[in-house]
Amino acid sequence: MVDGSLDPAVLPQPSTMDAPTDTTQKSTGKPKPHIADTVMTRRNWYQHINWLNITFIMAVPLLGFIKAYSTPLYTKTAVFAVIYYFITGLGITAGYHRLWAHTSYSASVPLRIFLALAGAGAVEGSIRWWSRDHRAHHRYTDTIKDPYSVRKGLLYSHLGWMIMKQNPKRIGRVDIADLNEDRIVAFQHRHFLKAVIIMGLAFPTLVCGLAWNDWMGGFIYAGLIRIFIVQQATFCVNSLAHWLGDQPFDDRNSPRDHVITAVVTLGEGYHNFHHEFPSDYRNAIQWWQYDPTKWFIWTMKKLGLASDLKTFSANAIEMGRVQQLQKKLDQRRVKLDWGVPIDKLPVMEWDDYITQSENGRALISIAGVVHDISDFAAHHPGGKAMIRSGIAKDATAAFNGGVYRHSNAAHNLLATMRIGVIRGGMEVEIWKREHQQGAYIKDEGGNRIIRPGAQVTKMAEPMATASAA
Ligand SMILES: [Zn+2]
Ligand SMILES: [Zn+2]
Repeated sequence: MVDGSLDPAVLPQPSTMDAPTDTTQKSTGKPKPHIADTVMTRRNWYQHINWLNITFIMAVPLLGFIKAYSTPLYTKTAVFAVIYYFITGLGITAGYHRLWAHTSYSASVPLRIFLALAGAGAVEGSIRWWSRDHRAHHRYTDTIKDPYSVRKGLLYSHLGWMIMKQNPKRIGRVDIADLNEDRIVAFQHRHFLKAVIIMGLAFPTLVCGLAWNDWMGGFIYAGLIRIFIVQQATFCVNSLAHWLGDQPFDDRNSPRDHVITAVVTLGEGYHNFHHEFPSDYRNAIQWWQYDPTKWFIWTMKKLGLASDLKTFSANAIEMGRVQQLQKKLDQRRVKLDWGVPIDKLPVMEWDDYITQSENGRALISIAGVVHDISDFAAHHPGGKAMIRSGIAKDATAAFNGGVYRHSNAAHNLLATMRIGVIRGGMEVEIWKREHQQGAYIKDEGGNRIIRPGAQVTKMAEPMATASAA
């Protein structure tokens, strides 16, 4: 198991050693395609499988579960397994992820050693390998260069990318010079298999064996089954956190925020925030949100073991949140009928308006905009007679306070009934000029935003007399 042909997914190897077929040349001189780039058939399917990872991720835990049937679970072992689950989980979240992949804080040597050992106990590959893929995941999220893109399916992002062979050349390139210079990272990478055996299995077995003589229980529950649970939990960051929940900061990519993912992943569930602000040592920004990894890092700072905790300002975070809210608002606004835009309405002569009105069409001119109230008159809250009294007249003043100062909702409703504009109509001319000068507000899609009280039919000051009504 320790030869150089191991795949890097669970055990660290330079990416060029992913598969021996990689560098093999055909006699024609054409490079043979990587197995991952060939179609899976009945004859070659076993070559597509990453057997080493299958062993570590599926077969070994399965053995653990089978053996658990005949192994009693003692309370002390159970409690230790849960504690060790948190320790090794934090090795990944506080260590691999927030310290090494994102450098969101600085850690002292003792803390880095602790995190490197704890992370090895989670059996998810070396820091170097894990962080490189994770940086590629952030840089190329949802693209072909994302090593665990959720666009390839939920199961692929959770497990598939590890149990199927990957072409290492496909994964986006990232800078890991800092990791190569970190002696603890380099040491852990070099001795990773030993670290896995010691921290993943030997250590929990020894603790349970020496302390309360439960060697087998320690091996099965705090070792094998705990590894399985911590692996599956942290894999959820790649799958569940890109599939379940809200997108309060940006919805262009897949990352999402959800409390369930946070509970499962020691606080890594506020993933939409995390992808927007990746070097923030927090995932949850509210004190009441579940982020034990953040609490751990904060405690380490209080103990003098961590420093330089990076955060984005509340202002920068709120800017992103407001923009996303605005985007959602735009999507809701665009679904509504705001009436035909003024500059798209046909122009009518005043005389034509009068003629049509007198010939039985229920038209009302307000602020130079002509509205057809035929279907609405009977439903007018102020009465049919009142509204009909405005037909064939300039009802601007009457509508704006002369008779009744209509509500914002009334102006909105009125807008949906407009059918034309009067040539030279005062308010319309002002409105049009302002529009031409770009004085009106538009959303991202170029659609007009009509603020309350800013409808063309609304007069700035309520009119005192019903002169024209
Ligand atoms: Zn992600
Ligand atoms: Zn990340």
